[in-house]
Amino acid sequence: MADLQLAGKRALITGGGSGIGRATARLLAEEGVSVGVVDIDDDAAEQVASEISRSGAQAVFFQADVAEEDQVARSIEAITAKFGGLEILVNNAGIPGGPWTTLDQTDAERWERTMAVNLRAQQLYCRGVFPYLSRAGGAVVNNASSAALAGWPQAADYAVSKAGVVMLTRQLAAQWGRHGIRVNSVAPGIIDTGFGRGPASRRQPPAPPAERDLKYFPLGRVGHAEDVASVILFLVSDMARYVTGECILIDGGLLQMSYPALLGR
Ligand code: NAD
Repeated sequence: MADLQLAGKRALITGGGSGIGRATARLLAEEGVSVGVVDIDDDAAEQVASEISRSGAQAVFFQADVAEEDQVARSIEAITAKFGGLEILVNNAGIPGGPWTTLDQTDAERWERTMAVNLRAQQLYCRGVFPYLSRAGGAVVNNASSAALAGWPQAADYAVSKAGVVMLTRQLAAQWGRHGIRVNSVAPGIIDTGFGRGPASRRQPPAPPAERDLKYFPLGRVGHAEDVASVILFLVSDMARYVTGECILIDGGLLQMSYPALLGR
């Protein structure tokens, strides 16, 4: 059996309180990784960390708004102090920006907030964890989106921020390879988390997509958080030791086959 070589490693996951971040935290913990869960929603982060701790793995949580530089620094400081180091960063926290709108309807405040949470925060975390990851070699996975790869008329700020994530990833992969750090990104398609629906609705089970929409999904279903978490697990593991700067699309074939049709154009 393949050895992921993850046991004993230490990870920081932003947006780990729900959805893809939570699924990733659970999966890494199952492989023996100590997990630091960072989220703006402290109840959600605490719940994930407690659940992981009850299963016998090590987990801590830290409440932070990833758009705030001082809070980013404090979360890194707290988690590395608790674990005594860090080998894995999963930059996952993200927001849709607001109601889906076109570029001309996107005001400056919304643009800035989307860029700060989705893109700048990832740069801040990468910069902040570099001293730890460069000690023994490490791995970073940045959560982008299929919206980064295709253009999406109703989500200009979101799509541009996520395209920035793909390029940030390539840039850092080129820069940090010689330090033994691999940097990759994932581009999820439509995943049935509560993305963009706020804390209360995130705790409800997601509404299933309309039967008529499923015909646009080559694999016949929308994605689940675990479908993305398993690719993140692969990317931070030794199985992906010669992969860096890559962006892996996880959309069940949607983008290649039928995105334009699904969006009604
Ligand atoms: P989610 O809403 O369940 O999870 C996002 C998490 O990030 C939440 O726990 C939220 O509290 C946290 N968060 C939001 N803003 C934050 C901030 N400023 N500081 C700290 N934490 C913050 O949604 P999800 O689908 O799991 O989204 C995770 C990532 O996946 C996002 O970056 C999103 O852009 C990306 N993504 C999701 C989809 C999808 O269809 N669900 C598709 C493509 C990409």
